Amino acid sequence: MERCIECGSKHADYLPHDITNMYYHLKFYETHRRALQWIDAFRHCDQGIFDDIQNGLYGKGINLYDPIPLNAELPDHSAH
Ligand SMILES: [Zn+2]
Repeated sequence: MERCIECGSKHADYLPHDITNMYYHLKFYETHRRALQWIDAFRHCDQGIFDDIQNGLYGKGINLYDPIPLNAELPDHSAH
């Protein structure tokens, strides 16, 4: 599997970007001039995975447009 050009980690196209990879945060900021938000990491995912992550974040009271803290992890999205 190739390294993702967005986040620098190895993952399938339909899976979220690796928000634990510092490179992803830095590269995103360089490109977009704003902090990485939760939605940025998984808006490209398959619908089922998208829904799982979105529901998991809502369950934690997280807004999808909040910036992602550096030590954060995405909710479970392995059910599909
Ligand atoms: Zn990625």
